[in-house]
Amino acid sequence: MAAVSVKLGNIGSHWTTACKQAVSDLNSLFRRKGIRVTLAVNGAGPTISVRTDPSIGGTAVHGKTSAETDGAGKLLRADVRLPVKLTISAPKGIRDAGTGMAEVIAAHEFVHALGHEPHNSHLMAQTWNKVLGDRAAGDKLQAGALAMPPLELSDESVDMLKGIWT
Ligand SMILES: [Zn+2]
Repeated sequence: MAAVSVKLGNIGSHWTTACKQAVSDLNSLFRRKGIRVTLAVNGAGPTISVRTDPSIGGTAVHGKTSAETDGAGKLLRADVRLPVKLTISAPKGIRDAGTGMAEVIAAHEFVHALGHEPHNSHLMAQTWNKVLGDRAAGDKLQAGALAMPPLELSDESVDMLKGIWT
């Protein structure tokens, strides 16, 4: 089983919580789907470095990831940048979005970092809609008919990741 380290920069408590949740939920998803890679915060192996980037707008639901891979598409190192602040429009005005929404964005970028370059559907969709929860904890991101969390990968994404992490 390959190990990949997620190194969290000074990204604030909100993103730290969301990234840890993304690591934990991706690991159980990978285990369930037979994808042979495990993420660990400050763990062993090649490193995904995570930081926030003020040039990414707070209304964005995408980060930016650049990954360096070997000839087989396996990760050497990656750099994930996340928006500093995530917001959502509520009836009473714009408020900070909840951890669940942040988790989906972090997990999406981590999967890019693991060598899944294209956008398709489920967690790796290109187009997202924000879904307002009754409370911030209930905020979700919707791709097609699917609202996440919980995180879900398409069969195509599972096959692609299995091909990289055998
Ligand atoms: Zn993307």
